[in-house]
Amino acid sequence: MTAAAAHAPSWYAASASEFAAQPRLQGDEQADVVVLGAGLTGLSTAIELAERGYKVIVLEAQRVGWGASGRSGGQLIFGYGCDISKIAELLGKEDARRLFDWSLEGVDLIAERIAKYGIECDLRRGHAHAAIKPRQVEELKAWQDELSGQYGYQGLQFWNQERLQQNLATERYRALLFDPRSGHLHPLDYTLGLARAALALGVRIYEGSAVTAVDPGAEVRFRTAEGSVRAGFGVLGGNAWLDALVPELERKIMPVGTYICATEVLGEQRARGLIANDMAVADTNFVLDYFRLSRDHRMLFGGRVSYSKLPPPGLGARMRQRMVDVFPQLGDVRLGYVWGGYVDITMNRAPHWGRLQPNLYYAQGFSGHGIAATGLAGRVIAEAIAGQAERLDLFARIPHRDFPGGKLMRTPALVLAMLWFRMKDHLP
Ligand SMILES: Cc1cc2nc3c(=O)[nH]c(=O)nc-3n(C[C@H](O)[C@H](O)[C@H](O)COP(=O)(O)OP(=O)(O)OC[C@H]3O[C@@H](n4cnc5c(N)ncnc54)[C@H](O)[C@@H]3O)c2cc1C
Repeated sequence: MTAAAAHAPSWYAASASEFAAQPRLQGDEQADVVVLGAGLTGLSTAIELAERGYKVIVLEAQRVGWGASGRSGGQLIFGYGCDISKIAELLGKEDARRLFDWSLEGVDLIAERIAKYGIECDLRRGHAHAAIKPRQVEELKAWQDELSGQYGYQGLQFWNQERLQQNLATERYRALLFDPRSGHLHPLDYTLGLARAALALGVRIYEGSAVTAVDPGAEVRFRTAEGSVRAGFGVLGGNAWLDALVPELERKIMPVGTYICATEVLGEQRARGLIANDMAVADTNFVLDYFRLSRDHRMLFGGRVSYSKLPPPGLGARMRQRMVDVFPQLGDVRLGYVWGGYVDITMNRAPHWGRLQPNLYYAQGFSGHGIAATGLAGRVIAEAIAGQAERLDLFARIPHRDFPGGKLMRTPALVLAMLWFRMKDHLP
């Protein structure tokens, strides 16, 4: 058995709190619920179940938070990976309204857990979607009208260029939609904090314990190289890393690489000069830029995508250029860290949650929008296991198509589709 991989060399890994290594699974164990993956989905599920008195074992191939959960942009945003109008198209307006409300519950759940379990992860409120083109300004206004009119979400503020420049030192954006309820956090510290909470609730977490087979049945059995866990229920939270272990799930998502850089320390004054109110920002392009400040006053700037498992050539220089395009005043700044990870996108960008068997559950397809939605996924799966499946059943009604072209042709087909969306980003 090989040792668990180290965390990606990110600013998060360099600045996260200490977390004691957890043992590998050796031998056969029994639990009420066995969970694959110690990311936000798996840990959220484990906490919700342990709070209800279930005996839970979590099996993690690498380390707690090693996947997307420990590497993300840390932007905590309401909604899902697709527009809510897409969900209305798929499920109808009434059910879309319920899903929208639950997404706000996902945002609030984070603050509740931080308070309940004393998690230190630099939560800050304030997030903005930014428009670059005149067309996007109109889209932001229409979105605000839709959310307040049809979904009852009144908190969004439309900021014109003059107003936004009081907080954001860039000429790039024409308007922002500011949400005081969303925000940002240190994603690895939050994930590790959830793991500590789970351990305190009696959950057992095994690291370096990749699940190599999932045996369905009246009792599910998750096997690893050195042991197995039998349980009444199984939960799959492996996200983009699940690969061929569960082909029915693999066909529904495409792992897409996305990247982040962290500058050297800028100093408080210079950092605040860039984002005075410390909000997180994401533009509304399909291949978007997203950024925020770190607690030690660096710029954390994310963007770019790739469809290969190899890091794109010249990644650091390209990330830096994207950042300087937004903040030319950072032209003299060096980068301290550059890293990436995979997001699990579905064809329609809507979440893909449900059951493969009556006692085998999954949640994936967060489509780059999982910080808040993963918490909700864990809660609705736990509710279903505890006998209240109404909410999970509604998510499970969202139709999903396989990526076309099978395993080998999936990537070229997706690249073509993405090229079209990228071209759209360049239209006025
Ligand atoms: C670079 C980047 C930036 C992002 N930025 C944002 C953002 O700003 N805002 C936002 O809302 N979302 C963002 N996301 C998306 C968000 O991070 C994810 O949706 C979320 O973390 C998914 O959590 P998860 O637990 O489902 O998956 P993961 O965190 O990937 O966890 C899955 C875990 O399962 C384990 N695993 C897989 N297979 C096995 C196996 N066979 N056996 C045992 N363990 C296994 C993996 O090792 C991994 O630890 C970003 C993602 C990336 C990569």
